[in-house]
Amino acid sequence: MLRVAVPSPLRRSFDYTLPTDSTTAPDSLQPGIRVRVPFGNRELTGILLEVSDTTSVNLNKLKPAIEILDQTSLIPAHLLSLWLWAARYYQHPVGDALHTLLPTGLRGKAQANIKKRKNDAVLDDAAEADHPDREDELTSEQQQARNDICAMSDQFQCFLLDGVTGSGKTEIYLQVINDTLSHNRQVLVLVPEISLTPQTLARFRQRFVDRSIAVMHSGLTPRQRLNAWLLAAKGDADIVIGTRSAIFTPLARPGLIVIDEEHDSSFKQQDGFRYSARDLGVMRAQRESIPIVLGSATPSLESLHNALSGRYQHLRLTRRPGNARLPVTRLLDTAQQTLEEGFSSELIQSIRQHIDKGNQALVFINRRGFAPVLQCRDCGWTAECLHCDARMTLHRTPAHLRCHHCERRQPVHTHCPECQGKSMLAVGIGTERSEALLQRHFPDTRVIRVDRDATSRKNDLNDLLAEINQGDPCILVGTQMLAKGHHFPAVTLVAVLDADSGLFSADFRGQEFMAQLLVQVSGRAGRSDDAGKVGEVLIQTRHSTHQSLQTLINQGYHALAEQLLSERRLAAMPPFAAMALLRAEAMNAAAPAQFLHTARLQAEQLLTQMPDGHQVQISGPLPAPMEKRANRYRQQLILRSTHRANLQNLLSVLCQQLEQMSTQRSVRWSVDVDPQDM
Ligand code: ADP
Ligand code: ZN
Ligand code: ZN
Repeated sequence: MLRVAVPSPLRRSFDYTLPTDSTTAPDSLQPGIRVRVPFGNRELTGILLEVSDTTSVNLNKLKPAIEILDQTSLIPAHLLSLWLWAARYYQHPVGDALHTLLPTGLRGKAQANIKKRKNDAVLDDAAEADHPDREDELTSEQQQARNDICAMSDQFQCFLLDGVTGSGKTEIYLQVINDTLSHNRQVLVLVPEISLTPQTLARFRQRFVDRSIAVMHSGLTPRQRLNAWLLAAKGDADIVIGTRSAIFTPLARPGLIVIDEEHDSSFKQQDGFRYSARDLGVMRAQRESIPIVLGSATPSLESLHNALSGRYQHLRLTRRPGNARLPVTRLLDTAQQTLEEGFSSELIQSIRQHIDKGNQALVFINRRGFAPVLQCRDCGWTAECLHCDARMTLHRTPAHLRCHHCERRQPVHTHCPECQGKSMLAVGIGTERSEALLQRHFPDTRVIRVDRDATSRKNDLNDLLAEINQGDPCILVGTQMLAKGHHFPAVTLVAVLDADSGLFSADFRGQEFMAQLLVQVSGRAGRSDDAGKVGEVLIQTRHSTHQSLQTLINQGYHALAEQLLSERRLAAMPPFAAMALLRAEAMNAAAPAQFLHTARLQAEQLLTQMPDGHQVQISGPLPAPMEKRANRYRQQLILRSTHRANLQNLLSVLCQQLEQMSTQRSVRWSVDVDPQDM
């Protein structure tokens, strides 16, 4: 019997007999090969999971498979078992998770061969590597970290490379990778978003000019992706650099995994198969008996907890190398001040001082568009999205209202639909508005806006980054796109326009995210090796005495993180408890809560049958933080336990039961294990 994972939303595999014309002995079939099978009235390509003597299906109902597509499996046994484990752990149907394991080009009948055409430039593009880049002489902290990692080159060990922004973490990756390559092993590097960090990619290309580097990200054509995948699987690519989904890239001779900016929430898939590439990276390294390095200046509380408790080896870099120093940070309390479109006069003055010295200033605003609210001055009416519980954002270039949650657009109101009043006000600050204000104050200085709207075409961001790195005085205004790992040596001032939204978030991770963002964006200042270019960070807030903000500014990220960890411990929240969300949504406002109510009763029933069932706490159904989005109403059930196994056992039975509930066709539901946001 062939047990096959077939692309289908059902939480099970399917059994088939050998193809009728097959002469192959069943024992010689490797798990991981592709098999063409009949499914309903269709033909599908699945993956062979195992060859078994038994089946739960009535023998004469069993159908033969149509064709065995591969002679040998390109998916190593370790990776296949990791993927199966992940589908179980994240409670996702194996068949529906198939696309993470197989590139599009292998999901049909095509042969697993590299078909290279012109312009399929997946490998190192030598043109970009025009300066073959030097190795820096490492500081003693860096040397220690590098040596510790290299000493474990042939066994599993998880390292948390916990180094302040600009401390030379990337340099350590490069040197450790070099060591791994010299042992003839491959390296897998995961980064949050390749398009946002072209500089990191360029550094890899420059350092390893004579090595083949495969790049895996969502911007590739299916053929490019297939080629990169095959090069990795066949051992022909030495280095694979990719985003989240690259964690499932097969490697013929694995030697090292690096996960840069491990705290970044993009490593967690937010829909469908909701896996964490970081957590799977650690599992994968363990199965493949290789080291893994998680790097960050602001480690997630999960990883920090693992490092502090000794499960991960904690490597710390506390200083920037050379003459670069960490910037000095100051809070600017704006509670008693009149602001000009969000800017205090002190902030404008500081920007002027830095620009006058020939340096660059960076202004961070966590909101794109002109203003987040359009309001009637007479009656207070505000423009809201018809499809979401959210306000429409006012954009000026070109003028329109847009919902940032469902992308709905509409013309800007010239008068109030409620009272017909003619004074419509733009309330609040977005990047476009700040750009305009700064341009008025600094008519002779280039103001560069960096956000999703300003970089919507392919090379926009590259062009802007290139201009910034020319080093001429300029003011950068942008969203968190500016916080991501960039090296801007000419930036000496970083200003955060408004730190307050993160302080009072309802999400239990709100303060952690706030601290990470503030530290990352601050880290763009003072990275020059020029001792004269000292960095300064100004943070505007109406709550300068807020305890978390005080701890962060005066004692640093780690002091705040440890404080947040002890709060999480007391409240039995992750990482001290396992958590899962059961989400439901429907066009009908009442249906999701009804569905989750039934789910809750079923879960409680199941728990009474489990030996330690009382150890799982259930709360809800509760409305999601934005209940209505894109015309769908959303509710959630929160499940939590300090005994992960109990929670997992409950979920696996519960999901099977919910899948079989046929009455609720109008309700879409999903389960999110270890959710990042709630
Ligand atoms: P991180 O990844 O921690 O942000 P990077 O590796 O990008 O830091 O290093 C920041 C800057 O410092 C880079 O320009 C890098 O070339 C430089 N650098 C790193 N290590 C050293 C060193 N040992 N001596 C001098 N410069 C270094
Ligand atoms: Zn009105
Ligand atoms: Zn909307």
